[in-house]
Amino acid sequence: MSTLEIRDLHVSVETEDGPKEILRGVDLTVRSGEIHAIMGPNGSGKSTLAYSIAGHPKYQVTGGSVTLDGEDILAMSVDERARAGLFLAMQYPVEVTGVSVANFLRTAKTAIDGKPPALRQWVKEVNAALERLGMDPSFSQRNVNEGFSGGEKKRHEIVQLELLDPKFAILDETDSGLDIDALKVVSEGVNRFHARGDKGVLLITHYTRILRYIRPDYVHVFVDGRVAEAGGPELAEKLETEGYANYVKAGASS
Ligand code: ADP
Ligand code: MG
Ligand code: MG
Repeated sequence: MSTLEIRDLHVSVETEDGPKEILRGVDLTVRSGEIHAIMGPNGSGKSTLAYSIAGHPKYQVTGGSVTLDGEDILAMSVDERARAGLFLAMQYPVEVTGVSVANFLRTAKTAIDGKPPALRQWVKEVNAALERLGMDPSFSQRNVNEGFSGGEKKRHEIVQLELLDPKFAILDETDSGLDIDALKVVSEGVNRFHARGDKGVLLITHYTRILRYIRPDYVHVFVDGRVAEAGGPELAEKLETEGYANYVKAGASS
């Protein structure tokens, strides 16, 4: 049993006009075995929350805490966060160029385990994971994120999730840009991961549609850099019909 605890988290981002506060006191507790959905309008700070937990250097924590079983996550390097059991899809990709999916996955696995995986077994696992996500084994020879379609990026994220086997997965807009078939395949991957038991999932999304395939235990409405309302799955149904209008101040930009 593990607990990821976010307490009164304040985060600023450096802009041309100086630092701008984006997270304004986020409180959230995710226990292993639970699926939490964070839902909110564009620009409310959802990705900032994910990046802050990931340790992205652009985001400056100015207050509050993030702990995993009492350990201070914010004091850890990005690699240490991964070794502690956090999976943050966006922490790896973009910057790597000229690295194949196979090498990328192996490097990530080695960093987390502290030793390289046994090669033959690992190749089998990678191919099996690709197959579950409906991808050809030749995908592992492609360069990470080079010319990936939106669907391939998201499937690749779930391949990572299944192979790296963290304690907590933070998935930012895993549903964005997916057609219905890809959405199902990706959702099934998240559900398989969760079904391993003792896995915490923080699913960040703008739209309710992914919640037809992944059933959250808790839903948090995220507005203006903090949790505006928290509840059970029924909250997602309310959002589905009413949208975010009730939460967003009239005239506020989104
Ligand atoms: P969401 O994921 O909910 O759409 P974001 O966390 O991406 O929201 O963005 C929240 C707000 O912070 C937005 O107004 C966005 O423009 C601003 N923001 C985020 N990152 C940066 C950045 N690196 N520089 C300047 N502004 C940023
Ligand atoms: Mg505060
Ligand atoms: Mg976002």
